[in-house]
Amino acid sequence: MDSGSPDASAVDVAIIGAGFCGSMVAVNLLRKAKEIEVALIERSGSFARGLAYGTTDRSHLLNVPAAKMGAFPDDHEHFYRWARENPEELKRQGVNAVEPHSFLPRVLYGRYLAGLLDQSGAGGSLRRITAEAIDVAPQANGRFRVKLRNAPGLIAQHVVLALGNFPPGDPKLRDQRYHRVERYLVNPWSEETRKKLAEAGDVLILGSGLTGLDLLLSLATLKSQGTIHVLSRRGLFPKPHRTVKPFASFLDQKSLPRTARQACRLIRAQVKQAEAGGIDWRAVIDSIRPYSQQIWRQWPTEERRRFLRHLKAFWESHRHRAAPEVLEVKSQLEEAGRLRCHRGRIFSIAPEKEFLSVQFRDSNDHSDRVLRVGYVVNCTGPECNYHKLTDPLVVQLFSRGIIVPDPLFLGLDVGLGGTILNLQGERVTHLHTLGSPQKGILFETTAVPELREQAAELANRILYQLEHRQNSQKLDQSEHAAVAFQI
Ligand SMILES: Cc1cc2nc3c(=O)[nH]c(=O)nc-3n(C[C@H](O)[C@H](O)[C@H](O)COP(=O)(O)OP(=O)(O)OC[C@H]3O[C@@H](n4cnc5c(N)ncnc54)[C@H](O)[C@@H]3O)c2cc1C
Repeated sequence: MDSGSPDASAVDVAIIGAGFCGSMVAVNLLRKAKEIEVALIERSGSFARGLAYGTTDRSHLLNVPAAKMGAFPDDHEHFYRWARENPEELKRQGVNAVEPHSFLPRVLYGRYLAGLLDQSGAGGSLRRITAEAIDVAPQANGRFRVKLRNAPGLIAQHVVLALGNFPPGDPKLRDQRYHRVERYLVNPWSEETRKKLAEAGDVLILGSGLTGLDLLLSLATLKSQGTIHVLSRRGLFPKPHRTVKPFASFLDQKSLPRTARQACRLIRAQVKQAEAGGIDWRAVIDSIRPYSQQIWRQWPTEERRRFLRHLKAFWESHRHRAAPEVLEVKSQLEEAGRLRCHRGRIFSIAPEKEFLSVQFRDSNDHSDRVLRVGYVVNCTGPECNYHKLTDPLVVQLFSRGIIVPDPLFLGLDVGLGGTILNLQGERVTHLHTLGSPQKGILFETTAVPELREQAAELANRILYQLEHRQNSQKLDQSEHAAVAFQI
């Protein structure tokens, strides 16, 4: 335990990370509290945007229709209405009209969130701190000292780790020297990466998920010479969204599938039945969403592992769909011969003089193939295994024994409601998380429709605990009640 620094300033809640999750916890706290001091700590200097909505490329679209992207759980159309009421903002991003099913630029969503944060001050004070949090030290009095790089620290009663997604993990190859080569690009979201990929010459995108699609969109306009290659294990891209008639849910609490295989069979049968009635498969997938966290939670670890091994890639390409106009750009690039998609397993990336030579086994004909490309960019999805992260805060929290990964290394070990569990499996009272770190216990915890619920619930729970702080002995029990009743 740290005895704390007497000169550090004190707040009720310190939130580390100001992407959607951190910013919306702050907005909810400030809207609901009568009096509260919140510190929102963000290392990038850009508040309320995070990785997803911090893009400056307006061709990057939301992958959820406008009418479902509201930031509050009780008002799903909030963003849609905001967009309609702000035609000037739309025009600036090249959008002429907005419909409930429009897929709007993500830049616009960042503006919406920034506006919410700006207007949230009524119930207390918000301190925006541009700095990197590098340590959270529990103190003897039950508070935390938050240490910041090159800035004075803070004392906080509650700390929220809203750290979001980390850059992709590198492929496990026998020869790992490619890591250190400048032509191997590890940050698919940076401006610099886009510039390099736009240079003349062939390039390779590793991974065919939503991030890979983002890059294709940017390169469609930025890159005039050279072939873009995309390589992924299964060759699956996100499926296109379509407006569909809803499908009545076929699940209820008592009939949730007990195994991954059972789930797969059930979905297939339901899709067949729906299609016979003229209903699109997308409606069947969407009808599962209210139950997906429950299904995941009731599966034992081995069953979850089975799902990850055999079904995850298929589930994700159907579940996390892309705007149809995005996939249209991909088809146009393919038809023009500017894009080639490969299905296979990479086994080496060898630096040559002016190239990277990439060897992979093509899954279509099992032949070994070589691509010579100017750059390789890793878009294989965020690294979820916290043990592999070199992020200073994560490393420090590990060394304190405050965090541990969940058994499947999808995120952190957390209790229901996002309370961090330490090395001993005990709840670290008043240290919370939400979003991606909860993947191990919830699986479905990535997109706004889930995150807005979590942000509002966590804010409610923190407020409840702050109000009842005098009676600290009863805190743990009241926490359980708060989660159960979602107060
Ligand atoms: C490219 C992309 C597109 C997406 N598109 C959509 C979409 O259209 N619709 C949808 O519903 N979901 C989308 N998502 C899912 C997205 O993850 C969530 O919607 C949401 O943005 C996640 O927010 P977050 O706050 O958890 O994480 P992030 O946005 O990653 O924010 C975390 C923040 O924490 C900061 N941070 C981390 N560590 C520290 C530290 N130690 N000190 C200080 N600051 C720190 C980071 O700088 C970052 O700003 C997308 C995701 C990505 C990656």
